[in-house]
Amino acid sequence: MRIVLKPIFLLFSALTLSLSTYGQMDRLFAPFDCRRHAELDIEKTVTDTLSQVSIQALQVVEAPTPIIEIDTVDAWKKWKTVENFTYGKDRGTMPMIVELNALHPYFRDRIVDLINTCEAQGIHLAIVESYRTHAKQHEYKSMGKKYTRSGAGKSKHQYGLAVDVVPIVDSIAMWDDKNLWKRIGIVGEHLGLRWGGRWRTPYDPGHFEWTGGISTSELSIGKLPPIVSKDSYPCIEEDVRLLRKYWKEWEDEVQKSYARN
Ligand SMILES: [Zn+2]
Repeated sequence: MRIVLKPIFLLFSALTLSLSTYGQMDRLFAPFDCRRHAELDIEKTVTDTLSQVSIQALQVVEAPTPIIEIDTVDAWKKWKTVENFTYGKDRGTMPMIVELNALHPYFRDRIVDLINTCEAQGIHLAIVESYRTHAKQHEYKSMGKKYTRSGAGKSKHQYGLAVDVVPIVDSIAMWDDKNLWKRIGIVGEHLGLRWGGRWRTPYDPGHFEWTGGISTSELSIGKLPPIVSKDSYPCIEEDVRLLRKYWKEWEDEVQKSYARN
């Protein structure tokens, strides 16, 4: 009985999701949720039966079938990256991860808010970098103070809690328009994010981060940022555990490919 109830619960979760804002957005923004993790527990042998139960329940409530990609194993292999100079600046030889799903789910959702709010104001933002590996952080560190003051393990990017963006006007990355940066920074700060445009060493207006008030040393020992709206993130611990697995696999892959070259 437990096994039959579970997919129905999962289905209702999926329906709620499909009716939410996220359900109307690109799959890139589909949030991590309990259903994805629960999927790991379902025996492959009963999958067919479960999907039949789901279809029957779906007909009763007359809701559309949610199209959600479930991949708790290889999702990280599809993360998007950009090469050096994509946005006109030297950012080192290792590609930058620009995937929003590589970020802590709460922070990722605030970045989606930032992108959408800016878009509504006619400002198009491109993601320059989201999650950053230790190897990439080390590369920036070796490139000098202009790039970062933080060594490996010290940047919020390495906890999925920072992102770099740039406004794009007529296909050109606008790195030096201070007024434009100010408008973007204000939106970010309204969303509760810390904005690098307030810093002087280095002035980093494309950088936004959030830690829920905890320090980098707390992050480095595995502490999670506290989330006020916990109801919206019922499985945050599992989400982050899965993310950490992805991050590690990505890092291992980077190191392997560097060893080969
Ligand atoms: Zn940054």
